[in-house]
Amino acid sequence: MRVLVIEDETRLAATLQDLMELNGYTADVCHDGEAGLDNALTGIYDVVLLDVMLPRLDGFTVLRRLREAGNATPVLMLTARSEVSDKVEGLDRGADYYLTKPFDPKELLACVRALTRRQPELRNPDALEFCGVKLDKSSFTLSCGGRSVRLSRKEFDICELLMLNRNLVLTKESLLLKIWGYESEAEDNNVEVYISFLRKKLTHIRAGVRIRTIRMVGYCLEALPESPG
Ligand code: CA
Repeated sequence: MRVLVIEDETRLAATLQDLMELNGYTADVCHDGEAGLDNALTGIYDVVLLDVMLPRLDGFTVLRRLREAGNATPVLMLTARSEVSDKVEGLDRGADYYLTKPFDPKELLACVRALTRRQPELRNPDALEFCGVKLDKSSFTLSCGGRSVRLSRKEFDICELLMLNRNLVLTKESLLLKIWGYESEAEDNNVEVYISFLRKKLTHIRAGVRIRTIRMVGYCLEALPESPG
């Protein structure tokens, strides 16, 4: 699980990062709203801890832009106790939860746990389905109608991400980060190779979906357009 902390008070940011890492999360920190938004938009985070008063871009604007971009990462907003009306505003704008500073670390951890298991059927499904195409987690197979094909681990991981983000564009960069991780030396080329494997398998099972290439950006899993006639 990867957490993004957007907090300009450096001591609090460091405390949050330590707290997350002590509890088994990987935590990245940004100290202003602009950098925070850029990072959050990569889509690689499972939850974002977002301060309200931030330099460059305030927390509400970060949240609004994130949601406008179609990013649904759970957001936990943090702010000073005095700013009570912020709570309403934050929730109105698509925050998933709200905590006032100073907060109890236990409460914060409970919130993060709740937010990251909010969609268990999406995050840990036995099978994902889209337009009749089924991705089975226990057998690593992709099937459609009576036809099925086994996937390699990487193919499976990529296919799962595409299905979870169906109809959304996944950038090559976010695929690389999510599938291969920060430390890896994998390149865009690796993504292209696995996407081509997956396309062959989708064709093989005569799936009614395709992986569309969005030039210079990434990929999108979508239903095949109706064939004319
Ligand atoms: Ca602040």
